[in-house]
Amino acid sequence: MQVHGQKIVVLGTGGTIAGTASAADDNIGYTAAQVGVEQLLHAVPGLQAASGGSLVAEQIAQLDSKDMEFSVWGALAQRCASALADPDVRGVVITHGTDTLEETAWFLQSVLDAHKPVVLTCAMRPATALVPDGPQNLLDAVAVATTPGARGVVVVAAGAVHCAQRVQKVHPYRVDAFSSGDAGPLGWVEEGAVRLVKNWPSGQSKQALLAMKNIASCVQWPRVEVVLSYAGATGALVDSLVRDGVQGIVVAATGNGTIHRALEGALLRAQAAGVRVVRSTRCPEGQILPKPGDTFADSRGLSAVKARISLMLELLA
Ligand code: ASP
Repeated sequence: MQVHGQKIVVLGTGGTIAGTASAADDNIGYTAAQVGVEQLLHAVPGLQAASGGSLVAEQIAQLDSKDMEFSVWGALAQRCASALADPDVRGVVITHGTDTLEETAWFLQSVLDAHKPVVLTCAMRPATALVPDGPQNLLDAVAVATTPGARGVVVVAAGAVHCAQRVQKVHPYRVDAFSSGDAGPLGWVEEGAVRLVKNWPSGQSKQALLAMKNIASCVQWPRVEVVLSYAGATGALVDSLVRDGVQGIVVAATGNGTIHRALEGALLRAQAAGVRVVRSTRCPEGQILPKPGDTFADSRGLSAVKARISLMLELLA
């Protein structure tokens, strides 16, 4: 679709970017999701000008993203889809907590036909901090959303632009908390200009339409859990999940997809009972190299939490 409009829709969901603490030097004892998205925008000098003068703010949710819920994902996806379909809208910016940012990004990348940019941004310091990082991140996110040719779901934080598929939060405190691992970021935002070193991610029109329909009509999301393989692992957790009616299990395996034999036995029993089992690696970089005869499907480079989202969407279909 042709983009005629100049409007940038900014959707607020909460997070540390909207967090407040009682003291300016307190960067950990704050409460997330306190400041409205409209107020966040007003706090950034030059933001309206950078957007071309047409920012529209909407509060979709106000939560700490550790508590992200499927209902918020559903509302966010629907609002993004309607904004993307509006010829007056140039792009969408979403303010979000850092904790589950990569999950929301992958979910949206999987369900939207993002032929325009959908830019998630965040902060590692609350709005009341001595040096909050949210305002610069917002300015950079708007710069990405207004960049000609920008498309797909991306994450902008600490001056870097990451694709939804690769981005992970890799640090609990540092301001520069996100990484795309060995793939590297898509590019950087420097003084309001985007320096891209990779292509923008492409939207997935047919799949997206179907996924959006499934989300809209779904009463209950499929139950998919993540289990971890480690020294001394047992199959007890998996056996109890199967008894409890789990529909899918993602195992964060060691190394190149290896799984403790006790856990593997339980996963084989689960698979035989009809539970979908997907293998990812708990290594933070690289991806499993599959080999002939592998018993479990592999996550094709997705981290365990993102593979869980893909499996839920597959089960929904
Ligand atoms: N717990 C916060 C959240 O994810 C952390 C943050 O935003 O940095 O909402």
